Amino acid sequence: YKDDRGIEMNIVYISFGSNIGDREKAIEDALDLVNQNEMKITKRSNIIETEPYGYTDQPTFLNGAIEVETELSCREVLKRLLQIEKEVGRVREFKWGPRLIDLDIIFFNDEIYDEEDLKVPHPDMQNRDFVLKPLCEICSGFTHPILKKKVSEL
Ligand code: ATP
Ligand code: CA
Ligand code: CA
Repeated sequence: YKDDRGIEMNIVYISFGSNIGDREKAIEDALDLVNQNEMKITKRSNIIETEPYGYTDQPTFLNGAIEVETELSCREVLKRLLQIEKEVGRVREFKWGPRLIDLDIIFFNDEIYDEEDLKVPHPDMQNRDFVLKPLCEICSGFTHPILKKKVSEL
């Protein structure tokens, strides 16, 4: 939408998770950095504790979701989120392995991106309760642009 200065603002839904180290601190650090990176957090879900997904032999996660308003493009948001993960101290080991912080773009407006390193809406979000539950708190009425279902229905 256009804000009161006539500038195009994007609405982005981001899910976050952490399952090693000081999980609460990693999340707070990451969300502070989001706010300092031209992304304004406008809504925030509660944080829930969830069992690991995919590779299950690892500690439990804290998960949640935020709504962000930004002038940044989707690709720029991805770039910044990956930088923030690094800054908070994430070390990539293996797919779906333990992580101090994970920040995934779930929706970017109602836009669709299908590139090698950027898939939005997140292609597996509809199968993940730890993504859907927090999202339901902040955007239950948002319609998935491909599945054409509301978050609350998913
Ligand atoms: P999953 O995406 O299944 O949750 P993951 O979060 O563990 O897995 P990562 O290792 O954090 O995967 O990220 C690998 C790559 O995924 C990133 O470098 C990024 O380029 C790419 N990627 C593609 N689509 C997205 C998206 N919507 N949000 C964040 N990263 C994405
Ligand atoms: Ca993820
Ligand atoms: Ca990720």
